[in-house]
Amino acid sequence: MNKTPPAASRRPVQTYACAANGCQHVIEAPMLMCVEHWRLVPAALKREVWAWWRLVGRRPEARERHRAAVQAAIDAVHQKQLARKARSDAATRPLF
Ligand SMILES: [Zn+2]
Repeated sequence: MNKTPPAASRRPVQTYACAANGCQHVIEAPMLMCVEHWRLVPAALKREVWAWWRLVGRRPEARERHRAAVQAAIDAVHQKQLARKARSDAATRPLF
């Protein structure tokens, strides 16, 4: 059997850095964040990001709405990280 892989699988995959603040993970398009950070995005926002992403190029307002949803997702992750840090700071008593 000599199967030729479909054209799509031979195309180089575009990669990006995770969109979350300070994250160095490299991810593949069209993902926005690494799994660890994407997990922190509220479900409703995840749906919004994907819904507008699918409409980019089909609806004139989609690009802007997608950008806004992405920013909201980044902010939501950042807030959760800050809250988590505040909790761990509160749990750690000063040494002296
Ligand atoms: Zn990340």
